[in-house]
Amino acid sequence: MRRILIIRPSALGDVVMASPMIGAIRRAYPQGYLAWLVEPAAAELLRRHSGLDEVIEWPRGKWEELLRRARVLALGRDICRFARVLRSRSFHLALEGTGLLKGRALAYLSGAPERIGFRSREPGGFLMTRLISRDPADGRIGSEYLQLVESLGLSPGPFRMEVALGAAARDGARRVLLAEGVTRPYAALCPFTTRDQKHWPEERWVTLAAALEREFDLTPVVLGGPGDRREGQRLREAAGSRVIDLTGRTALEESAAVVEGASLVIGVDTGLTHMSVAFARPTVALFGATRPYLDAGTPKARVLYHPYPCSPCRRRPTCDRRYPCMAAIETDEVLQAARPLLGGGSTSSER
Ligand code: SF4
Repeated sequence: MRRILIIRPSALGDVVMASPMIGAIRRAYPQGYLAWLVEPAAAELLRRHSGLDEVIEWPRGKWEELLRRARVLALGRDICRFARVLRSRSFHLALEGTGLLKGRALAYLSGAPERIGFRSREPGGFLMTRLISRDPADGRIGSEYLQLVESLGLSPGPFRMEVALGAAARDGARRVLLAEGVTRPYAALCPFTTRDQKHWPEERWVTLAAALEREFDLTPVVLGGPGDRREGQRLREAAGSRVIDLTGRTALEESAAVVEGASLVIGVDTGLTHMSVAFARPTVALFGATRPYLDAGTPKARVLYHPYPCSPCRRRPTCDRRYPCMAAIETDEVLQAARPLLGGGSTSSER
C-alpha cells in the first residue's frame, strides 16, 4: 500500500488550487494512505475531503511563538515530537508543494524516503530527493500541482478543485445572511488580502457595488477576515446601506459557504476567489501584481489581467505603491465580464 504525504501548509488559495492532487493520487492508488500536512487555519477546508485519510496539522504558530520567546529547547522538543508523529505513518513519498525551505524541512522531517518538490531559489534543495521545474508559461489554474502529479508518472485525470463544506458552515452562512436581511440573490465581493499590491482601488468597489445592484439586482455582500474589518466598514460607509459588510463576521468555512451560495463572485487574488472557481460559481477574478492563473479551467470564471512590463512582481512592487496594474482594470470591464456569466450580453477578450 502506497503511503503518501502532501505538504502544502498554506495559504488558503494555494491549498484550494492544490486540492485536485487528492483525486489524481486517489485514482492511482485507491487502496493507498493519503495525508495532507497543513496549517490549522486551512485545515477545515480539507477535513471533510473524502479522498484524504488524514489531515495533519502543523503547529506553525506555536513554533514561531517558542522561537520568538527564545525557548529553543521547548521548540526542539516540539519539532522532535512532530517528526515522531509524521514518521509513525511510514510515508513512502512526500510531495512538497511550496518550493520553500519550510516545506522541504517538513518533507525531510516526515521520514519519507522519496521527497519530490519544486526547484526554486530557496535553500534546502538537498533535503529533497527530486526537484522538478515549474513551467511559468502554463497559465492553467493549479498547473504546478498538475506538473507535480505528472512527475510521478500519473495521469492527472479531470484535476478538479474540491472544497468540502459541512452543514454547520452552510447553516452559519445562512444565519448571518438572514440576520442582515439578505433574502434574495447576492454578489459576493472579496476585495481583501494581506498585500496591498493585490488590491483593487477602493472607489472602484464602491462604484461596482452600486452597479451590481442596479444592473443585476444583486445585493453586494463584502467578505473578509477579522483583519479587514476597518476596510470593510470604510467600504460600507462609502457605498451606503446597499452593501452588506460581513468582514470579520464569518468563520472561514462560513465565508466559503457564502461564496458557494452567491450568484456572482468578484474578487482579487485571494483564497475566497479561488474557492469560488472551485465551486463553479460565476466568478470575475482581478489580478495584477500576482497572476496565479489566467485560465480558470471553467467557462464560469473570467480573469481580468493587464500585463505590465513589471508584472507579475509578486512580493516586490516597484511602482511606488501606485499599483497601476490593478487600477488599469475598469469597473465597466468587470461588469462586461460578469454579464455573460450571468446569462446576458457579450464580452470582449480580457487578456
Ligand atoms: S510593480 Fe508592476 S506588477 Fe507590481 S504592483 Fe506595481 S504595477 Fe503592478
